[in-house]
Amino acid sequence: MRLCGRPSKPGALSAAGTFYHPRQATDTPFYKLVAGHFGEFGRVYPEKYERDFGFWRGVIDDVVRKFLECGDLAHGFARVRCGDCGHEMFVAFSCKQRGFCPSCHQKRTLNLSYHLTRNVFAQVSHRQFVFTIPKRFRLYFRHNRKLLGKLAQCAWRTVRDVYGFVLGEEAIPGAVVAIQTFGSLILWHPHIHAIISDGSFLPNGTFVPMPDMPTAPFLKVWEHHVFKMLIDERRITPEVAENMRMWSHSGFSVHKDIRIEAGDTDGLEKLTQYIARCPFAQSRMVRVTPEGKVIYRADHHNPIPFPQWRALPTERTLTRNFEIFDPLDFLAQVTQHIPDRGQHIIRYAGWYSNKARGCRAKAARASDSAGNKDTQPSAPVTPAKLRWAALIRKIYEVDPLVCPKCGGEMKILAFIDDVAVIRKILDHLGLSLSSGTDPPHSHSPPPTLTTEPFMDDLPWGEHADVG
Ligand SMILES: [Zn+2]
Ligand SMILES: [Zn+2]
Repeated sequence: MRLCGRPSKPGALSAAGTFYHPRQATDTPFYKLVAGHFGEFGRVYPEKYERDFGFWRGVIDDVVRKFLECGDLAHGFARVRCGDCGHEMFVAFSCKQRGFCPSCHQKRTLNLSYHLTRNVFAQVSHRQFVFTIPKRFRLYFRHNRKLLGKLAQCAWRTVRDVYGFVLGEEAIPGAVVAIQTFGSLILWHPHIHAIISDGSFLPNGTFVPMPDMPTAPFLKVWEHHVFKMLIDERRITPEVAENMRMWSHSGFSVHKDIRIEAGDTDGLEKLTQYIARCPFAQSRMVRVTPEGKVIYRADHHNPIPFPQWRALPTERTLTRNFEIFDPLDFLAQVTQHIPDRGQHIIRYAGWYSNKARGCRAKAARASDSAGNKDTQPSAPVTPAKLRWAALIRKIYEVDPLVCPKCGGEMKILAFIDDVAVIRKILDHLGLSLSSGTDPPHSHSPPPTLTTEPFMDDLPWGEHADVG
């Protein structure tokens, strides 16, 4: 057990100790579905899903088990106390997993948008680019996830090439590129979203705006890079690419209709949150029927061709805006979007690459120490606590670091992660330990005070440069 400050004394907590619990994580249909069916899903996977979804990935086990413990007091918590009135609370740990835990993924996304708008994006206008590939190529990326990174490279090279042709090779655009493996539904649909400066930067920092352009040149260059990559990777032959180039509709597309004006920080934050969002939304899981079927709807109300997940790429499908899944099929769909460990989902390139930003910061520091006060200040550093408090307020409109009784500042007294101590404290307070992976029983009392996880030190680590 790690302790900061005074050791915890269960007896001292019963009067003052309460729990921060604006949300009951275990009450959501999604949690119940996962808790109730994940064990069986793992058992039947080789026989039922391996052929379509590829070999079982260890990361699925890891992420899902941590999700089931997320916000559960039984797996550890922090004890916090108000510096002014002495009010005390417990706050459970969170799982910090991406691509599956809706709460933790959302925190990461908010953190990312906060970071990008303050430390990465320049004060210029930006455009969203969306790059898609033919349906028949999609499976290559499910069975070889390294190709997703190469797809992100293709998108960046497309922008770099066309901008370079129009504005000159010396100027480079700034790009934040996001890999998405899902479409409007949760079926496998790898594609790329990118937020690109609507112009390029000269080495001295001067911004050269991009003239308004049709998408056709981008589409041609995108096709070229993807074909070349898939040929280099021996997924297709040059003959297949040649043949597909003849088709009037190759299945590639590029969209760049959304433009964010310079200074529209709110717009950029929203767009960032959109491109980095969780693969599925709990709000779109309409319900779980008594038979355990999951109804999942699209993010808009217009019926669309809704591909059946076992349909061939060329098969025509019904038009509707929802899908009904068996619970295990639903788990297969959702878990396929969990990124591999260490896989970078968000990548920076060009003027916004870590390397370019690092060089500029270094030059600014050198210039500062030489007494030149006219240079731009380096990126502002936000104290971790302030950052966290701002984020948690954005998500839940509450701030657990602010005392609910008097508004004073809550301080962390201790991290309690020793099983015996956890058990002792919870027993003392009359709170039963949940078993985590067991499905909640309808006859049992409602879950004991479940707490909102917040002990994140929201990491930046998943963001690498596009190679
Ligand atoms: Zn207080
Ligand atoms: Zn979590």
